[in-house]
Amino acid sequence: MSKRKCMWCGGEATIELRYARLLLCDDCFKKYFIKRIAKTVEEYRMVREGERIGVFYDGSKPSIALLDALPQALPRHEVHAIMIDMGLPYYTIEARTPLEEIAKERGVEIHVYSLPDQRGYSIEDFRGTKYWPRICSTCALLKRYYSSYVAKQTGLDVLATPHTLDDAVELLLTLLVDGKLEELASFTPVQEPEFPNQVRRVKPLIKTYEWEVEKYIEVSGLDTPGECPLREGARSAWRKEVLARFEEHEPAFLRKMYRSLTKKLSPVLRERYERPRPVPCRICGGPSTTGICGRCVREIYLRDRKKLDIKIG
Ligand SMILES: [Zn+2]
Ligand SMILES: [Zn+2]
Repeated sequence: MSKRKCMWCGGEATIELRYARLLLCDDCFKKYFIKRIAKTVEEYRMVREGERIGVFYDGSKPSIALLDALPQALPRHEVHAIMIDMGLPYYTIEARTPLEEIAKERGVEIHVYSLPDQRGYSIEDFRGTKYWPRICSTCALLKRYYSSYVAKQTGLDVLATPHTLDDAVELLLTLLVDGKLEELASFTPVQEPEFPNQVRRVKPLIKTYEWEVEKYIEVSGLDTPGECPLREGARSAWRKEVLARFEEHEPAFLRKMYRSLTKKLSPVLRERYERPRPVPCRICGGPSTTGICGRCVREIYLRDRKKLDIKIG
């Protein structure tokens, strides 16, 4: 970019935000990124006065950016980091370094819940089972379960997850394609707790593009551990690539799509489709659709199939 001016400070612009018709320098972009998180939190009333927030950290770029930016966006709130160690070197070594560096820099307390230590199994134990071909969804389900658990145990009020605008649009389109209109209707960036063992879950990056996350990491000089080794070929990854190409040709495409699906379509669908009400899992009391939750189903399966010493409850 040749000598164009930053529209905030007049310095040399390095970043063009085509969807916002904005040119910024590195420093102003960082401020812009942090400010948007603060505005998103405010717009959706994600956090209330005095509440303590946990940031769900899994080594992904959005989780790194969120962990670094959220304490700056909400300086009056206490921020904690929660990581679920799935029993891969990725979590014990690679993802650990950036976590510790950022936590130190931002004054964030770290809570790591180790699946092998606490539960007696690792994500690798699913190898060779029916869950392995779509292991990312099992991994996500377990992380979701245990991150809520840790947040509750730690006495936090809110759990912030690193879902971006790209994630949200990909999910909404998938629900549309699969005809899961009840779920599409109930999509929200703020999920209030429905069971005693839950906390509010919020998505402060819901208005932030994935490329902005990458840019923020780059200009902030943050380390990243790379991708989880099990993640290859996840369906969501190529769908998001396709969406990013739409955006290249038509700036603001994803923003418009998100707005139209959540502000126009969802309210209409909500009148027609009632959201399936979760029922408590009869084993652990957590939310489920069938009376036994996904975590309990999988842990019982592993215990019986692989003869592991897993205490279910
Ligand atoms: Zn500037
Ligand atoms: Zn359960």
